[in-house]
Order: sequence, then C-alpha cells, then structure tokens
Amino acid sequence: MIDVMVVGGGFAGVGAALAAARQGKRVMIVEEGNAFGGAAHHNLVIPFMPYWTVGENGEKDYLTRGIFQEITSRLKAMGGMTDDKFFLEESLKLLLNRMLIEAGVQILFHAKLVDAKAEHGAVSSVTLALAEGLRDFSAKVYIDATGNGDLAALAGFPTRLGRESDNACQPMTLCFRVGGVDQERWLTERKELQPLYAEKQAKGEIKNPRENILTFMSPLPGVVHFNTTRVIKRSPVSSEELTQAEIEAREQVFEMMAFLKENAVSFQNAYLLSTAPAIGVRESRMIDGETLLSAEDLKACRVPVDTVAVANYDMDIHSPDGAGTSHYYFEPGTYYGIPYAALIPRGSRNLLAAGRCISVTHEAQASVRIMPVCCATGEAAGVAAAHACDAGGVRNISTDTLRRLLRENGQRVD
Ligand SMILES: Cc1cc2nc3c(=O)[nH]c(=O)nc-3n(C[C@H](O)[C@H](O)[C@H](O)COP(=O)(O)OP(=O)(O)OC[C@H]3O[C@@H](n4cnc5c(N)ncnc54)[C@H](O)[C@@H]3O)c2cc1C
Repeated sequence: MIDVMVVGGGFAGVGAALAAARQGKRVMIVEEGNAFGGAAHHNLVIPFMPYWTVGENGEKDYLTRGIFQEITSRLKAMGGMTDDKFFLEESLKLLLNRMLIEAGVQILFHAKLVDAKAEHGAVSSVTLALAEGLRDFSAKVYIDATGNGDLAALAGFPTRLGRESDNACQPMTLCFRVGGVDQERWLTERKELQPLYAEKQAKGEIKNPRENILTFMSPLPGVVHFNTTRVIKRSPVSSEELTQAEIEAREQVFEMMAFLKENAVSFQNAYLLSTAPAIGVRESRMIDGETLLSAEDLKACRVPVDTVAVANYDMDIHSPDGAGTSHYYFEPGTYYGIPYAALIPRGSRNLLAAGRCISVTHEAQASVRIMPVCCATGEAAGVAAAHACDAGGVRNISTDTLRRLLRENGQRVD
C-alpha cells in the first residue's frame, strides 16, 4: 500500500515527495511527462524569481530554504546554476531524478491522472493512463501538485478558475530560445527597439499584445531566452482552447523572430533553437480551501499561526485582458505567511494541494506561483501528508508539530 501519492512532478510535487519520503513513508510520484521540474522544463521557464528579502546588514535573507535550497546548492555544485536565478533545466532534470531515487520515492513517468474517486471528503483511488492502459491506484493520503488542480477537480472538490469577476486567467506564454545572439549588444538594443515594436503593434503588424519584449540572458553563450508571447482569453483547462493558444503563440514566436532579424543588429546571426514543449500556464484552477489567502493578507504581511512557508515575490499580474503587467512590490525586510489551511481543499480528509493551485485569490496567486514558493508549499504538504497517514487525516495533524519539523528541515516558517 502506498502511504502518500503525489500527482505532478513540478517543484511542488518534487518538494512534496521528497519531504514525505524523508518522514519514512512509502511515496509514489506520478508525472505525465518524462522528467521532473514541471514548468521549468516543459514550459522552458528558466529563472527562479526572487525568494529572498534584504536583511538588516543589507545581505540577502533567504525566505525559501529547506528542500529548495538543497536543490539550488546541488545544482550549483554540478555546474547547473551559477547565481541564485538562472539554471540549466537539463541539469535540474538529472538532479531531481537522483534526489527522488536517493529518498526512495517510487517514480512513475508517462502516467497521466484521468480520474479520481472520493466519498465523504476522502479520495479512495485515482485512475492513471499508463502505457499499459488505465490503472487504478490507492494511497492513504494524496497530494495534488498538478498545477491545474486536476486531482481536486476530478475527485469532486470545489475549485475556482482565475480572476473572481470573470474567471479570466493570467495569459499563457510559449517560451522560446534563440542562439547566435550578440548578448552584450542585445542588453542595450532591446530598449532602443521598444518604440519601433510599439509602432508596429499599433499598426497591427505585430499581433502579440504584450507591451514589450521580455527576454532573459541564458547562462549559455549567445543564447537568449524569450518569455514574451502572450495569449489572452483562452481557458487553460480546455483542450480546444489550449490548442488555439498553442497555434496563436507559435505564430507570435515567428513574428518576433522576423521582427528581430529585420531590425536588431544583435540578431543578425541568430537562429531559433527551440520552443518549449508546451505553452506555459501561469494560472488556472485553484482549490477552494479551508482558508482563502487574499491580496489583503499579503499586503498586510500577515503571518498566520499555521504558516508553513513565507514569501514576498511581488504580485506580478500579466494582464488577462491584453497589454500591461501590474506589480505590487513588498518593502525590503517584509514578507507574508502561507497558512497550512490554504493547502487543504474544503472538506478534505486525505487530500492536500501544493504549488500554484493552492487556495489563493487571483492577485495572491500572482505572488505564490513562483517555483521556489511552489517547492516550499510542496515540502509543507509532504511533511503534513506523512503525518496525516498516522493521524487519521489531513485535518488531524498538529500544525505546531508540522511547523517544528519544517523548521528542523531548515525551512523558514516564521
Ligand atoms: C510563462 C511562464 C513564466 C514564468 N516565469 C517564472 C519565473 O521566471 N520564475 C519563477 O520562479 N516562476 C515563473 N513562473 C511560474 C512557475 O513556473 C510556476 O507557477 C510553477 O512552476 C508551478 O509549479 P507547480 O509545481 O505548482 O506546477 P508545474 O510546474 O506546472 O508542475 C505540474 C506538473 O504536474 C504534471 N501534471 C499536470 N497534470 C497532470 C496529470 N493530470 N497527470 C499527471 N501529471 C500531471 C505536469 O506535467 C507538471 O510536470 C512562470 C510560469 C509561466 C507559465
């Protein structure tokens, strides 16, 4: 019998599986893809957004520690990461395989969750589409780390989609990578090109509604990473609309390449290296949890008594309506707490959520969604799930004990 079943192998799922296994439980992690890392590899999301604040001495005070810090330290040691931000996803995929194997986690790739059964708040089984066909699996406790809240939704727990007023989600983006770029020159040229980009957009020659060209320098020489396509008003939980989104975004990739080849000196020898295997979803379903974390909670820097992770990434909302990206930045030295209750689907006895699908409003999700924080909520869910196996349910565990264990693992919860 599996003790803890984790569905989804992104940062949340990996954090959850490692944490639960290290509590001595039999853990299985299932992932529809062929590697761990989630958006980091199948959406080519390569930089970690900031997971620290500024301490009194002016130095970085890391808010996300624990398993995430272990991952970054090991990535640095193997040459897959040079600073606190950029990493090579190929190194990450190898490292995460090794870490999960070391922890004794049972891994199942090519396994898509397609159904779940639940009664009186308890999930009794999940159905996975495997290479062999459909198979049912049972565990004592389950963790939904699918990003989209697939398990919660399939098991019949209430979920919400996107913005409260109209269910619109943050835009989707197909990231892509370009080689042969004069990186030095691009650093200045991207600002110089902005007026021309805006002019062509106004004339309808550029259809991408994003307000500017968003790029990151890859640690690889001559490689620039683009996070700039923008698909709005498409549902990320509809295959038909995802299909339209993929088609639209691919046109935007080639539109951008043509614009740069024509107008940017730094792109004269550039070539498209790859597009991400799938369009990236910033926001979709979120569980309707035992509590709902809101923008007001974040702005007030509340640290509830059952806090299991702390964070301060800005509320970074790419407009669901078209152009524009809004921000709410936290003052240096400030942060907020994510309560355990935001990981519990309302009425759940043996299901927890972790990552970008926890119980948060549209605005709050824009801050908790970054990979380091997803890893931290995953770690919390993993420790909680392990203890819930013996305590008779996810609501029977002591949050004081949970917080103590997280602290002992090096995580920040205060
Ligand atoms: C375009 C874009 C840019 C971003 N930029 C940044 C950035 O610069 N820095 C940053 O830190 N964050 C960034 N983010 C946010 C961040 O990448 C995600 O919010 C975060 O990775 C979510 O982690 P997760 O583990 O909750 O979900 P995911 O990373 O989405 O992982 C979920 C995993 O579950 C699997 N899965 C899903 N459904 C099923 C199923 N039914 N059965 C089996 N497996 C399933 C998926 O294959 C996936 O591996 C960005 C996101 C996007 C889309």
